[in-house]
Amino acid sequence: MENCIFCKIAQKEIPSTGVYEDEHLYAFRDLNPQAPEHILIIPKKHIARVENLQEEDTELMGRIVIAAQKIAEKLGLKKGYRLVFNNGPDGGQEVEHIHLHLMGGRKFSWPAG
Ligand code: 5GP
Ligand code: ZN
Repeated sequence: MENCIFCKIAQKEIPSTGVYEDEHLYAFRDLNPQAPEHILIIPKKHIARVENLQEEDTELMGRIVIAAQKIAEKLGLKKGYRLVFNNGPDGGQEVEHIHLHLMGGRKFSWPAG
């Protein structure tokens, strides 16, 4: 989608540090990491928010979580990690292209702030 920063990152129009890529997904390091390891996993298809997901996206969203599992293993996050979808203004979503945050390398508290 035009003017979407994450579509541009997926298309390599904006540089990023990639950690995983396949036909459907791209994963790259967050520019402003909140943990020693902070990766964003995005579908190549533009989907703005969780509420825009359709039945046909079921497999794609499963692929995102399986990619998180593979990346966490590659990064050696044996003690666990935090997976987060910020969604909409109250959810703290700043970029309107759905993305899964994979954060690790430190202990996280709960409830989230
Ligand atoms: P959100 O608040 O929407 O859940 O998260 C957006 C994330 O994207 C933030 O953690 C922010 O640091 C990251 N981000 C925003 N712009 C860029 C960028 O141009 N490159 C990279 N690598 N990360 C970005
Ligand atoms: Zn997009």
